[in-house]
Amino acid sequence: MTALYDLTAHQAHDLLQRGEINSEELTQDCLRRIREVEPQVKAFVTVTEELALEQARTLDREHSFSNGSPLAGIPVQIKDVMCTEGIPTTCSSRMLENFIPPYNATVTERLYANNAVLVGKGNMDEFAMGSSTENSAFYTTRNPWDTERVPGGSSGGSAAAVASGEAIYALGSDTGGSIRQPAALCGIVALKPTYGLVSRYGLIAFASSLDQIGPMTKDVTDAALVLNAIAGHDARDSTSIDIQVPDYTKSLAGDVKGLKIGVPKEYFGKGTQPGVQEALDAAMSVLEGLGAHLEEISLPTTKYALACYYIIAPSECSANLARYDGVKFGHSYLDTDSMWEAMELTRQEGFGPEVKRRIMLGTYALSSGYYDAYYLKAQKVRTLIRRELEEAFQQFDALVTPTSPTVAFRLGERTQDPVQMYLSDICTIPANIAGTPAITVPCGFSEGLPVGLQIMGPMLSEPTLLRLGYAYEQATEWHKHRPQL
Ligand code: GLN
Repeated sequence: MTALYDLTAHQAHDLLQRGEINSEELTQDCLRRIREVEPQVKAFVTVTEELALEQARTLDREHSFSNGSPLAGIPVQIKDVMCTEGIPTTCSSRMLENFIPPYNATVTERLYANNAVLVGKGNMDEFAMGSSTENSAFYTTRNPWDTERVPGGSSGGSAAAVASGEAIYALGSDTGGSIRQPAALCGIVALKPTYGLVSRYGLIAFASSLDQIGPMTKDVTDAALVLNAIAGHDARDSTSIDIQVPDYTKSLAGDVKGLKIGVPKEYFGKGTQPGVQEALDAAMSVLEGLGAHLEEISLPTTKYALACYYIIAPSECSANLARYDGVKFGHSYLDTDSMWEAMELTRQEGFGPEVKRRIMLGTYALSSGYYDAYYLKAQKVRTLIRRELEEAFQQFDALVTPTSPTVAFRLGERTQDPVQMYLSDICTIPANIAGTPAITVPCGFSEGLPVGLQIMGPMLSEPTLLRLGYAYEQATEWHKHRPQL
């Protein structure tokens, strides 16, 4: 029999509903798994064992699993960038090491309203800047498939926790690929929703025109269930879309016959590893076998996406991170009489090297004299990239690409070369630039490491992406593989 910690949320829900297990048993199993593998994997900044057990026991006592939310009683890990009232929320930064938020993010509130059980907070690249979790101020998370390799980032702790069974599912955030790239590298499913579909109230901001929260799960059904719980309008986030959110589980019907899928050749560039290309070729044949029509297309502005992102994201980051001045919250340097010196030293000590690099890049791009040449130009390029994608979606229901051009790389391999690190997100960034949704599903292995298939779609096409992802998943077994730790 499968270990309880290896179950998906919908499998666990079935057992809870039938009374074959209770939430405490399931939670205890994840907590045991955390004790067992966490010394190797290091996916958590905080483990909330007491809270989790209390939540599980209360539910077992007072709740009927037969008529509640499908997420009731099921252990979740939340990336440490989303506020959890009374529980440290560090962004894996010295700056927020001792920050305990006095309120919950909307997504936290919604999970609690669904009676989720919180097992802890996920390690990440500091302030979500990075692609490997090596920028965490605390420690690097390891890939459960090979602990000498990175789990991806910035939501690497969440991807590793789900892949290794330390949590049944997780919430991550994605500014340029941070839920999809680690999900691909750890062999799980993740969905970056349309910009505005999930409230960011209580998400610590990195780049506000790009940030989105999304589910990280073991299969597509779970992604739909979690999206059901967290999507929907929130007056406290001014970018939140006010629409009637559909029931995403209704999209989990197998038929994808006749769907038109574009294969943008620029996403299969020279940086794509042969093993990744092979897995993608096989995945595309599966989709064709299911009756989808695949056709190669060209999206020539793709080559500007990375450069555009690395102007816009740092610019917004430099503005968002100006609030860390040591006055209201976070790290504070007090050993001086000068206000300016206190502020400078607070930031000098509180931020790590990558965060400082981003702040400098962004401040430069926004400064008078350079604003037009960099920031304004990047915004224009952004419009071109968005339009090109919009045009592609006039002809195609979806696009398929690799999620990451490579499998998980070795620890330390890219830390000395920021551009090499930035290239990890070459396939994921365009969806953030355009604000469009994208899903990643496991589609094979290369060198024994997982490969992810990315499916991108137009605004609010989550139902189509889930339908395609689900049909692909039903036709393959990749999502059933678990790492041996
Ligand atoms: N790796 C990208 C960056 O460093 C994306 C990060 C993210 O999506 N949060 O900015």
